[in-house]
Amino acid sequence: MVKFLDLKTINDSFEPDLSRAIKRVLNTGWYLLGNEVKAFEEEYADFIGTKHCIGVANGLDALRLILKANIILGRLQKGDEIIVPANTYIATILAITDNQLVPVFVEPDIANYNIDPHRIEGKITRQTKGIMLVHLYGQNAMNTKMQEIIEKYNLQLFEDNAQASGAFFENRRTGSLGHAAAHSFYPGKNLGALGDGGAVTTDDDELEEVTRAIANYGSSQKYMNEYQGLNSRLDEIQAAILRLKLNRLDSDNKRRLDIARYYCEHINNPEITLPYYCFNDSNPEHVWHLFVVRARNRDQLQKFLSGKGIQTLVHYPIPPHKQKAYKEWNKINLPVTEQIHNEVLSLPMSQMMTNAKVNAVVEILNQQNRKC
Ligand SMILES: *Cc1c(COP(=O)(O)O)cnc(C)c1O
Repeated sequence: MVKFLDLKTINDSFEPDLSRAIKRVLNTGWYLLGNEVKAFEEEYADFIGTKHCIGVANGLDALRLILKANIILGRLQKGDEIIVPANTYIATILAITDNQLVPVFVEPDIANYNIDPHRIEGKITRQTKGIMLVHLYGQNAMNTKMQEIIEKYNLQLFEDNAQASGAFFENRRTGSLGHAAAHSFYPGKNLGALGDGGAVTTDDDELEEVTRAIANYGSSQKYMNEYQGLNSRLDEIQAAILRLKLNRLDSDNKRRLDIARYYCEHINNPEITLPYYCFNDSNPEHVWHLFVVRARNRDQLQKFLSGKGIQTLVHYPIPPHKQKAYKEWNKINLPVTEQIHNEVLSLPMSQMMTNAKVNAVVEILNQQNRKC
């Protein structure tokens, strides 16, 4: 039996330090807006390479808060258009529409599943004010073409770094490339808490101040409310857990890279399209949050693997524009996005997978090849 992601094994590997960290917070009697969050914010900002980090309740809130702060600061206005990859997780889109901004869906590049920079210019209007770059599956989405467009049209660059904690573009971490970035510490993410958690990183002092205030009822001073804020804070316990896990993030990501390389080198089922980085493997740009293959007979393949005890998942079966929640966009034609949603399959991936399990996945996948 190979689980898709064994969170229990991952968390056990941090013991006994994990229980000690929880106990430490328990014993302080202080559970919100305290020293653990403050220390984590400093350590994560330092890791990402930004001046500021604000701990928040989850990744969706991090995205929402960045956009809301920009509206408060007058840098964005309701109705402004934000360029976004059409095949992202729905949270990216929810944050945009929640702020009465307009997502402009751009097709991904079928080779690497990230937004196709060559399709952006055709979508830019006078209303276009920003790009929400999503480093999907753990893979950096920035490149020189993207930089050119951002500069040429003077766009704000926001990053959805929920899936890419630790990834690089050239020698900078993703999450430090634009005006602000959102991070998620959902348990299954590369840096995962024991519950929900998220963060905003930025170099911008004003944006930091407003974001921090609106995450805390719009208040920087107790009982003084400058903005109509919300309540979105990272717990002290989660911060203590994340501090511990952050110390090991680069080495955990390195183990993921080794597993990905093994998959790349050994999977030889001709029905399966391997990730782009299998063939462009000089760089550690990719933190392999997910190892995503493509197959025409995806559903059959998934059933076959499941019958052999290999758990897989689909990220994602329905694109945002096809969801009931967004009826107004159901009829938009986005063939690359739809092909991806019909064909992708995520193989088991975690830093704690043993070589034997990785090999078992490969053997069974290649066996399906001989059968048909
Ligand atoms: C997980 C995820 C989010 C949301 O994070 P939560 O912490 O679950 O709210 C946003 N965007 C992407 C691309 C994600 O994968």
